[in-house]
Amino acid sequence: MSVFSSLVESVASYGVQCWVVDFLGISCERDIFKIPVQDIVFQHIRILTGCYSNTSRWVMLDELDLHPCQLKYACILAKYWNVQAPCKEGLAHTVFKADVSLMLKGCQLCWSFKFLTCMRDIGYINSDFYNNLFTKDAKDICSIKFDVKVVKDKFLEAYNKFMPGLDLDPRACRSTSAKRVKHIKWFKKSTKQALLVSKSNFHRHTFHRFRMGCSNLVWDNHRLDRCERICNLCHLGVEDEYHIIFECPVYEVARKMLDFRHLFLFSPTPGDYNSMMESFFAQEDQNTICNFVNHCMYTRKKLLSIDISSTENAGPSSRGSKRRSVAMSADTSVYKYSKLDDFESSTDSSMYVLDEDELMLQT
Ligand SMILES: [Zn+2]
Repeated sequence: MSVFSSLVESVASYGVQCWVVDFLGISCERDIFKIPVQDIVFQHIRILTGCYSNTSRWVMLDELDLHPCQLKYACILAKYWNVQAPCKEGLAHTVFKADVSLMLKGCQLCWSFKFLTCMRDIGYINSDFYNNLFTKDAKDICSIKFDVKVVKDKFLEAYNKFMPGLDLDPRACRSTSAKRVKHIKWFKKSTKQALLVSKSNFHRHTFHRFRMGCSNLVWDNHRLDRCERICNLCHLGVEDEYHIIFECPVYEVARKMLDFRHLFLFSPTPGDYNSMMESFFAQEDQNTICNFVNHCMYTRKKLLSIDISSTENAGPSSRGSKRRSVAMSADTSVYKYSKLDDFESSTDSSMYVLDEDELMLQT
């Protein structure tokens, strides 16, 4: 990701002080992720992790311990303001001063007005000051100094309104929130350690897909009621990530293998599966955790005998047809998906599960 930041993001952010002021809205997710460079970042995350194209954007950012691009750019603008406002000479200051004068004449399309509107939206400047903006003089406006750290904290506070309630149970809450709640409660604490996994692309993808809810577990099949999302291997409970790691007897042998048994030596809190998952994935030995997840997913794939040969010669297909290719076997509830969808496939996000919105449209 640091290479991406140096070689790609830096180029895509050229002249950000001028143009990014149009992309600082925080009223809805569409505004937050509106900056063109944000799409490039998401594409890169999909390549790094192999997650689905419909994976929650918040989960993608959380998995790589990132924030929306607009936060970083807003901080750059705050620094730019702090430099230009008290300045007495120079072309940039002359332009800045002219822009402030334009705003004081009532213009709402100028840089200063848009930036101060953003600062009002995040709660940095109060509404009274903002509403009387046009009655101020240039000296008052230029005397504003922004604390960049506070700007960052205010943005993070504003993003919190898009966060599902943390009191929600990831195994019982509405599906629209379940994946993010699950990622926050089970995996977010170990985000930084997970990035240190030094395995092949294939192993790393399987690991991150598992963490991001992109492993095609029965739990992710929204065609079934919650209570029907039963593990096809043991039929003893719903098949989600917790079931794979701790419950399913099919992987009991693996849990006791010499390579993996030390992963289960931490002191679990009985019955508190949030704490158990968080503790398990936050352990230091991330490479072994990655190996264990890969081992389980490989075992699962073999036992379920996922048939990928039927679509082997399907050839390139459109995104829409790829989505339609995901089908449920009526009798075994086993996913069938195209060769491209196999988790050993290329790094593009070609594994698709119909998300809730699509299902609602279809039904
Ligand atoms: Zn099971």
